Amino acid sequence: MPDKEKKQILIVGQGLAGTMLSYQLFKKNIAHKVIDNPVAGSASRAAAGLINPIVVKRVNRTWQADVFQPYAHQIYQELEEFLSERFYYPLTVRKIYGKDDEAFWHHRYQKETLKHYISFTAKHDLPDGIRQPYGYGTIHPCARLDMASILKSYRQFLQRNNALLEVSFDDQDLKINQNGIEWQGNKASKVIFCRGSFDANSPFFKHLKWNNTKGELLDVTIPGLKLEYILSKGVFVMPIGDHQYKIGATYSHSWKSLEPSPEKQTELLNKWSNISDLPLSINRQLTGIRPTFTDRRPSYGFLDEHPQIGIFNGLGSRGGLMAPYLANAFANLINHSQS
Ligand SMILES: Cc1cc2nc3c(=O)[nH]c(=O)nc-3n(C[C@H](O)[C@H](O)[C@H](O)COP(=O)(O)OP(=O)(O)OC[C@H]3O[C@@H](n4cnc5c(N)ncnc54)[C@H](O)[C@@H]3O)c2cc1C
Repeated sequence: MPDKEKKQILIVGQGLAGTMLSYQLFKKNIAHKVIDNPVAGSASRAAAGLINPIVVKRVNRTWQADVFQPYAHQIYQELEEFLSERFYYPLTVRKIYGKDDEAFWHHRYQKETLKHYISFTAKHDLPDGIRQPYGYGTIHPCARLDMASILKSYRQFLQRNNALLEVSFDDQDLKINQNGIEWQGNKASKVIFCRGSFDANSPFFKHLKWNNTKGELLDVTIPGLKLEYILSKGVFVMPIGDHQYKIGATYSHSWKSLEPSPEKQTELLNKWSNISDLPLSINRQLTGIRPTFTDRRPSYGFLDEHPQIGIFNGLGSRGGLMAPYLANAFANLINHSQS
């Protein structure tokens, strides 16, 4: 990793946002270090990693999906090769239809922008044990991104390159000067915060309109089920191999603790029971806080009053889809500001 102090960047947080930004800076040969201290509540370590360009409920294309999806596909495959590890699995989503869904999907299919993403004619070939009274429609191209693996693998890359500081960043220790910033003896031209929901507590970002949500999901084993696609009906059921699945996810706008809640476990199990009676065992219940702004749009850039301080945040529930493209766009901006 190049290391010219004058132009060095500090990234704080190595969730998906910090990881993607670091990779794009690395590709542009911009010297940087990443500071990360794994804390409970990190979204990327809890996420299922579903990459889906369609809002299933309304059968809408998600914001900028036609731009984000192909780029994400390219970058994750490129990263797999770069890190010599597999964590990106293209899969389709099969939406189990309710009574009028096929007609609604047919109607939505008339929209030119959706033709590429959905197949509406009901099929009925889901495995035994899955209720499919009205069949299912298909969403494509989708994927599962194993976020825990990508984070771990990229972290090791940072460690090998002496570019990771495994400490907690306290904003009070940040010194801002004319040439840049200094933090615990590390000088840099800029510091970029990628601390997800934790940035909401920072005095630098209090003015942003945060609307974070707590999410929970279950890792389960379903011995009687073998799927090679993702099922969706109220929840998604995502295969991760060896009869193991992720069932999720919940949304809470207020929460008392970061701990898994029995209510959300019941909610997820009830939704599963609408899909199937196949027995399952719960391996663990994961929780995390999705960093979200009220307009549900991500954001990157620098503070007007302190252009040495930047942020890349607000990836909400679709970080896997959006992070690669936005990280590249922000890295281009950083590159420009450095020259
Ligand atoms: C249950 C759940 C399911 C989800 N499912 C999906 C999904 O299927 N598909 C999808 O695309 N998205 C999903 N998401 C959303 C996705 O996880 C987020 O969009 C994305 O991971 C946000 O990444 P981030 O890097 O901004 O934040 P985070 O992942 O929260 O990363 C922040 C990082 O900053 C570190 N940090 C915090 N404070 C400090 C400090 N003071 N000093 C040093 N380090 C610090 C944390 O340890 C962490 O590593 C899900 C989220 C949840 C909670």
